[in-house]
Amino acid sequence: MFDLHGKKALVTGGSRGIGRGIALSLAKAGATVIINYRSQTQEAEAVVAEIKKLGGESVALQADVSQKDSVTKMFAEIKNRFGRLDILVNNAGIVFMNPFEKITQEEWDKVLDTNLKSQFLCIQEAVKIMPSGGKIINIASIASGGVGVGFGNIAHYAASKGAVVALTEDLAIELGPRGININAIAPGIIETDMTTGLLSDEKTRTGLLSRIPKGRFGKPEDIGAAAVFLASDESDYLTGSVIYVDGGWLAE
Ligand code: NAP
Repeated sequence: MFDLHGKKALVTGGSRGIGRGIALSLAKAGATVIINYRSQTQEAEAVVAEIKKLGGESVALQADVSQKDSVTKMFAEIKNRFGRLDILVNNAGIVFMNPFEKITQEEWDKVLDTNLKSQFLCIQEAVKIMPSGGKIINIASIASGGVGVGFGNIAHYAASKGAVVALTEDLAIELGPRGININAIAPGIIETDMTTGLLSDEKTRTGLLSRIPKGRFGKPEDIGAAAVFLASDESDYLTGSVIYVDGGWLAE
C-alpha cells in the first residue's frame, strides 16, 4: 500500500518546513523527489542529501514559483531530466500578519502571487508532462474559509488559501476526464519557521493549543502522511476534496 516507487514528484518550497516533511515522506514511500526552493540553496541541498542517505533519488531545482518565466524554465528542466512528472505538490507559501487597513497593494500581490498564482502556473506546466494517473496536491489551510476558521490580521493569506480550495474543486472537473486527480490538504497549526513568531508568545501558544483536541501542534510529517495517501493509487477515487489535518480543531 502507498507504494510510490518509479514515481517522479515535485514539491515546491520543499527545502524546509511542511515542504521538507512532504518531500521526505514521498521519498520514504519510494518516489524520486525534486526539491524546489526560492533562495536557500544549502537547505534544499541538505534535503536532497537526506533523501539520498535514505537510499532515495532527489535533486534540487531553484525557481521562484510566483514568476511565470521561472516556472517555465523549471518545468523545461524537469522534462529534460525526467521526461514526465507523476506528482505535483504545490506547497510554497508565505504569510504576513497585518491589520487589514495596513496591507499595501504590494504585500497583497506578493501573498496572492506566491500562494495562489504559483499553483496555477505550476499546474498549467505540470499537466503538459503528467500522464494519466497523475496526482496534484495543493496546500491550503484551516484559514481557507468555508468550513475553516478566521484568524484575523491575515486577510490576504486567508483569501489566497480560500481561492486554493476553489481552484482545486474547479480543476477536478477539467482534469478528472484526463485521469489526473487534484486535491488539497488544509493543515492546522504546524510548527515551522512560518509559525515560530506566532508560537513564541506564551499566551497565544496556550490559547491556540487549547483549541486542538489532540493536545499538540502539528509536525511536517503529519502533512507528509496525508500527501503520501493523496499521491498513491489508493486515493484514485478521491478528487476535488480537501483533507483537514488539524488535530481535530474543526471538529470542536
Ligand atoms: P516555511 O517554513 O516558511 O517554508 C516555506 C517554503 O516555501 C520554503 O521552502 C521557501 O523557500 C518556499 N517559498 C516561499 N516562496 C517561494 C517562491 N516564491 N518560490 C519557491 N519557493 C518559495 O512555511 P511552512 O510553514 O512550511 O508552509 C508551507 C505551506 O503550508 C505554505 O503554503 C503555508 O501557507 C501552508 N500552511 C502552513 C501552516 C503552518 O502552520 N505552518 C498552516 C497551514 C498552511 P525559501 O526558503 O528558499 O524561500
